[in-house]
Amino acid sequence: MTRHLALAVSTLAAASMPAVAGDLLSVNPTIRDIVAAVSSDHIAATERNLQSFGTRHIESDTQDPVQGIGAARQWIYGQFKSYSPRLQVRFDTYRVKKQGRITRDTELRNVIATLPGTVHPDHQILVTGHYDSLVVHPKKGTKPPELDFDRAAAELFAPGVTDDGSGTAAVLELARVMSSHQFDNTLVFIAFAGEEEGLIGASLFADKAKKEGTKIDAVLNNDIIGSVLSGNGNMDNTRVRVFSEEPADSSSRELARYIREIGWRYEPSLAVECVFRADRFMRGGDHTPLNQNGFAAVRLTTPSENYSHQHTVTDTFENTSPEYATKVARLNAAVAASLALAPLPPDVDRVIEKGEHKGETAPRITRGKSGYDAHLEWKKENPEPDLLGYAVVMRSTTAPFWEHEVFVGNVQEYTLENVSIDDVVLGVKAVDKDGNESVVAPYVFRPRALHKIETY
Ligand SMILES: [Zn+2]
Repeated sequence: MTRHLALAVSTLAAASMPAVAGDLLSVNPTIRDIVAAVSSDHIAATERNLQSFGTRHIESDTQDPVQGIGAARQWIYGQFKSYSPRLQVRFDTYRVKKQGRITRDTELRNVIATLPGTVHPDHQILVTGHYDSLVVHPKKGTKPPELDFDRAAAELFAPGVTDDGSGTAAVLELARVMSSHQFDNTLVFIAFAGEEEGLIGASLFADKAKKEGTKIDAVLNNDIIGSVLSGNGNMDNTRVRVFSEEPADSSSRELARYIREIGWRYEPSLAVECVFRADRFMRGGDHTPLNQNGFAAVRLTTPSENYSHQHTVTDTFENTSPEYATKVARLNAAVAASLALAPLPPDVDRVIEKGEHKGETAPRITRGKSGYDAHLEWKKENPEPDLLGYAVVMRSTTAPFWEHEVFVGNVQEYTLENVSIDDVVLGVKAVDKDGNESVVAPYVFRPRALHKIETY
């Protein structure tokens, strides 16, 4: 259809319009349906259930059918199983030796539900949270106060509803809603364990994924998405923070930009507040070990943290907002569905075949025939059955978000005449016939290795 091929330039900063490809200014009705099906009643019910286990401390009881982490993980497993026979549900089990905050050898289980993709089943989109909980008390007489990770803490009441029953509830709700649909790429829903003892479950999972060469394209890690009233009285249920690691065009940063763009289309009442750093000061989350193993992973978290409820007996259902967690879950649903339906991003890098940098990769960007243009090339990694074409994006090197976008058709090169490749950032994304788009693949300048100069 001709309207699909119309060239148009949109300024994202001005209007945040959807892609120019496909139906102009429309949203994908499938994604809209998925987002609308995310239910705050289900999220609230999950949060109540998670609190009912008393504690989900990694060293708590594993045999009791009602209390402790054993009952909790079995319940999560059963919930995943109950949603759809198409979800492949499993425990991801490790034996962790006594070390650090772990006071005895402990069996740890992440709970994982996989919805296999139909076009690129080897490409995975992860939606994660941690289901373990913790209460800690400052150690008596230590200055500054150290936290007491003694063995007794394992059986204390640790409701952990906001941290991170809220994230776990979002993961379960997305598995429930999305498992009645089919996607091009594989969706993986994970409830991690051992986050509170040092990101243990996510670290072991990430190490294994790297060793096995698992293609994890994006990780949406939800941790503390239930709080709307912070300890200093600030109240905010209209924003969510998305933390992404440096540098400016890391794969995690491109994912954060994507979340901001897609989020606005489907959950416009929730502003995505990108924070351009890996996480909050001196505190961690399960996205970090995924980053350290080379995967694109971001943390979604409330701007209204209440520290007096974190890791205490007051992190209860009464002190959380399932409605806010629902908004964040809807954002997750929009982004995960969009990524899972989208074509793979184009490959903008090539391997240098000769010369002193042989074997290194370089972006396929040159100054073109004139020597003064921006000439971009890219490759389509896999044939996409429903590919419409590509859009080229551009921004100033000092701008946080893409500023310009042009749909260039189903081609594999494009020239921006008289644009200096030294002065702007350029990228390209793939778009399908329904308007689903990939994350942007940026043309990244990679600093060369230090050159040793011999002196005499
Ligand atoms: Zn947490």
